[in-house]
Amino acid sequence: MIKLHDKLFVPYLSVEEIDNAVRGVAHQINMDYEGTSPVFIGILNGSFMFASDLMKKITLKSEISFAKFSSYQGTSSTGVIAELIGVNQDLSGKDVIVIEDIVDTGQTIDKVIGILNAKGAKSVRIATLLFKPEVFNKNFSIDYIGKHIPNKFVVGYGLDYDELGRNLKEIYQLHEKKSMLNIVLFGPPGAGKGTQAARLLEKYGLVHLSTGDVFRHNIGNQTELGMLAKSYMDKGQLVPDQVTINMLISEVDKRPDANGFIFDGFPRTDPQAEALDVILAERNTRITVMLGLNVEEEELKKRLLERGKTSGRADDIDPTVIQNRINVYNQETAPVQAFYEKQNKYIGIDGVGEIDDVTTRLYNAIENVK
Ligand code: 5GP
Repeated sequence: MIKLHDKLFVPYLSVEEIDNAVRGVAHQINMDYEGTSPVFIGILNGSFMFASDLMKKITLKSEISFAKFSSYQGTSSTGVIAELIGVNQDLSGKDVIVIEDIVDTGQTIDKVIGILNAKGAKSVRIATLLFKPEVFNKNFSIDYIGKHIPNKFVVGYGLDYDELGRNLKEIYQLHEKKSMLNIVLFGPPGAGKGTQAARLLEKYGLVHLSTGDVFRHNIGNQTELGMLAKSYMDKGQLVPDQVTINMLISEVDKRPDANGFIFDGFPRTDPQAEALDVILAERNTRITVMLGLNVEEEELKKRLLERGKTSGRADDIDPTVIQNRINVYNQETAPVQAFYEKQNKYIGIDGVGEIDDVTTRLYNAIENVK
């Protein structure tokens, strides 16, 4: 996957596939124009690579020149057509072949044909590397087509996304996510996040991203980020948000095809929540919901002490430590709830009762927001 500006693109046509498409177009033109000398006009900027590779395969005695004609901004046709500049030669009585990188609605090429006809060309034909039949809405046909493609935005091999990507030798397609289910599972220590997360993962096929696990994994494997995190922890300092965020990014990017993520233990602060929004937006997705497990303090303490009897976790045994964890949660982490409330994404779930009943409440909440 590659990123251009704010969007991700996935490989679509390899160098070899492009070469085959170019070869096909060249072969047809060489046959159709045998013994003649058509004038090629490449439409800049997008067609520079195609024109270059095509012309190397053209065996006719031909002139080539370039004209500039831009109608496109961003990822959807603006329909605004600018002037065609650069066709200064006399075309009267000439056979002209226009070289385009891509024909989408056909609006651009329609205009080009009109201008070249007005300059007295004997014939005007179009050679395009790519053609999107689903959106083409003109009543003439395109003479030479390298490849038919679906109506998805592509870049590379001359084609740009806001001027980037033209120099890529392969063609990439905009990465469009199926809508993901991204859950922030929230709640104080002992609320049952781990138990419930395991059930949600299974039911919805989600990837579990627990900051604790991610930290342990990175430190254990001595990754660069892990070592950086450890250097703060060793000094007894909090790991800065940006380090945590970078770790999360690398985890999210390992699973581009996930149905969604459960974020557990993250975000813990407003800046982390803001960063998460940006990370997901860059990947064409977003947080679906924050599910907060509500359990009152006395019950939490009871549960943690109970768990301590079997888990052996040091922080589950000492009542003072437990109280401290709950206090830290209330002071530092609980405010993140408001971040999602403001976005109308917070749903509080009664976390007390049978484990199965709590799971059912979570399922119901998810079904309502999916
Ligand atoms: P049309 O006028 O046929 O709708 O659009 C033609 C022009 O739009 C092309 O020359 C190209 O500049 C741009 N365009 C159309 N589809 C795409 C696409 O998928 N990717 C890129 N990068 N440009 C496109």
